[in-house]
Amino acid sequence: MPAGAAASNAAAASFAGLTAKLDYLSVQDVEQVRLAYRFADEAHLGQLRNNGEPYITHPIAVAAQCAEWKLDAQALMAALLHDALEDCGVTKIELIERFGSPVAELVDGLTKLDKLQFNTREENQAESFRKMLLAMARDVRVILIKLADRSHNMRTLSDVPRSKWNRIASETLEIYAPIAYRLGLNQTYRELQDLSFQHLKPWRYVILKKAVAKARSRRRDLIQKVRKEVEAVFTGAGIPVRIAGREKTLFSIYQKMQNKHLSFAQVTDIYGFRVLVPTVIDCYTALGLLHQLYKPVPGKFKDHIAIAKVNGYQSLHTTLVGPSGINIEFQMRTEAMHVVAESGVAAHWLYKVNNPDEAASDRLGTKWLQSLLDIQDETRDAAEFWDHVKVDLFPDAVYVFTPKSQILALPRGATVVDFAYAIHSNVGDRTMAARINGEQVPLRTELKNGDVVEVITAPVSTPNPAWLSFVRTGRARSKIRHHLKTMAQTESESLGERLLHQALRAEGIESFPDGEPQYEPLWEKLLRFTGNKNRHELLTDIGLGKRIANIVAKRMVNLLMESGERPDAVVLTRERFSAHESPSVGLITLDGSENASVQYAQCCRPIPGDPIVGYLGRGEGLAVHVKDCQVAKRLQFKDSERFIGVEWADEPVRTFETGIVATVTNGKGVLAKVAAALANAEADITHIDMAQDATQDEASDLRFLVAVRDTTHLETILRNLRRTQSVLRAERSNSSS
Ligand code: MN
Repeated sequence: MPAGAAASNAAAASFAGLTAKLDYLSVQDVEQVRLAYRFADEAHLGQLRNNGEPYITHPIAVAAQCAEWKLDAQALMAALLHDALEDCGVTKIELIERFGSPVAELVDGLTKLDKLQFNTREENQAESFRKMLLAMARDVRVILIKLADRSHNMRTLSDVPRSKWNRIASETLEIYAPIAYRLGLNQTYRELQDLSFQHLKPWRYVILKKAVAKARSRRRDLIQKVRKEVEAVFTGAGIPVRIAGREKTLFSIYQKMQNKHLSFAQVTDIYGFRVLVPTVIDCYTALGLLHQLYKPVPGKFKDHIAIAKVNGYQSLHTTLVGPSGINIEFQMRTEAMHVVAESGVAAHWLYKVNNPDEAASDRLGTKWLQSLLDIQDETRDAAEFWDHVKVDLFPDAVYVFTPKSQILALPRGATVVDFAYAIHSNVGDRTMAARINGEQVPLRTELKNGDVVEVITAPVSTPNPAWLSFVRTGRARSKIRHHLKTMAQTESESLGERLLHQALRAEGIESFPDGEPQYEPLWEKLLRFTGNKNRHELLTDIGLGKRIANIVAKRMVNLLMESGERPDAVVLTRERFSAHESPSVGLITLDGSENASVQYAQCCRPIPGDPIVGYLGRGEGLAVHVKDCQVAKRLQFKDSERFIGVEWADEPVRTFETGIVATVTNGKGVLAKVAAALANAEADITHIDMAQDATQDEASDLRFLVAVRDTTHLETILRNLRRTQSVLRAERSNSSS
């Protein structure tokens, strides 16, 4: 027989094995599953597993596990097709057309999970990864199929090259086994653990296995005796029971020895029986009977029926002292509890199939599952059902990746900026732009599970107050606030230093007394005089106008003279000369980069090119006015010592707002013409206000705020306006002038 035929025979044989398990499905459903099988078989044609069998045997095995759980036809079809999207060039559209979108969505969900690679050893990362896996699946069936997939891969791991064992087995142990446990799939949980152990520590596994077999055979007679005695008690009481010996998995023995530093004998010299009884009351009756038969070990009784474990597990547990003083653990539960105990969330499908007449929720006593089943009955929507499961199981979080595959958990609704601050406040403070999954996005973009987020920083970037409107985490919020506050403070301090420096120059001191140890006592005395805690505070106070630089400078000059330093006569003359004999201290240069420490007065709205004056208000920082502003003139009259010289930098870094009033004839489209004229002159309108002109009914005043570069720019704008049709007049206009 040619190899191809042998391969297809093997596949057909294994599919026959699957169909034998499908008797719980309708004829039509089985036919659908068969179609999915044919499609997958064709798609995987020519691909082989590591053991040389045709690849299709793997999807069939996965589907067979799903059939054990009695999952529906859609899930079985998805199981058969689960590797087809990635490996065989099949598209999602094709799947939708052939098998409908629910099946296609399941396959798509599985493919997405496959793309997640877990490759860090950190425990909390594993926890996040598990949660993310679960959160990403929109349907619980995706997780079940995934677990079936992983189970089969683990069962066949020995066929895979040994170099891969470690990675695959640790991933299984850290990610998939705990998920199985969390969903109550205890049988799968135990199997995944043992298979992982077997491949992680092959040598220890073999030794332990032999030792356990030896210990069991040594105690076989004793265990037989216990079993007979227990059976006799139940027969006498008229309770039909199913008793099964319960063996610890090798992994759990190994783990106990490791974690609790117990010897092999201490761990394995405990025997376990499971007693399955018809009703819940029987569980308690059984407990009473056993406690009469053997002496219970104090403190070992646990009622997991009244209080179920988080994953829905229910049973009574007790430990008894049997013949020859050996400890025997007993678990008492009903058949329904047993189904849940072994299959967890999958029990939902399982139990429905086995007991079609009963309302499943009546028999599955577990509150957790029961509430899920209620939801399921109400909604009949698998997605909604799963959403409820997730709400129960997981915090309201999204899980995202850094470019280096670190996982971060953030509250739902968190944005790129929250992410940046979660990494580090330095990253947050310098955030300039961001990419999600390689695409540039706005900083306010909300994150989704599985997003790979990359923050682009720039050393000159600073937090924007607007971020406060959309950040979600308290951390980001407080860091942004803190930074804005510090920024204002730093600016005030540097302004304060400039002011003091120039006040000193006006007194003839050229070099700022700083940086040398000899000046330390000078500063100490100065701080005692001003009452400030330290130099930063003093300079900030000067910058904010809480202290006047002139006065501080005069005091400083006195202190310097006391220590023997004299003002420099040359500097003194030069300053006096350049300041035209005015009492002003030198000039502060402004370029518009000052944020909080300098305000450009609203009354006159100075722009570069205007002659300007600076007024150091008390605690408000420096206010810049146009020199002949009425407000400034009034201040100068009563508060002249607070005025300081300011000048524009040669190249201001931004535009400045100023007011324009244009008188226009009323008519259609006038505003548009005016706006066009402004745009032509490259002036951005930041505010517009229309008032009826009091003197002429047919004319109106349009008031604008425009952002301009300087007075020359403003002149160009006004000229443009005056040339515009229907504009009668155009002037600079600020409220005080
Ligand atoms: Mn697979």
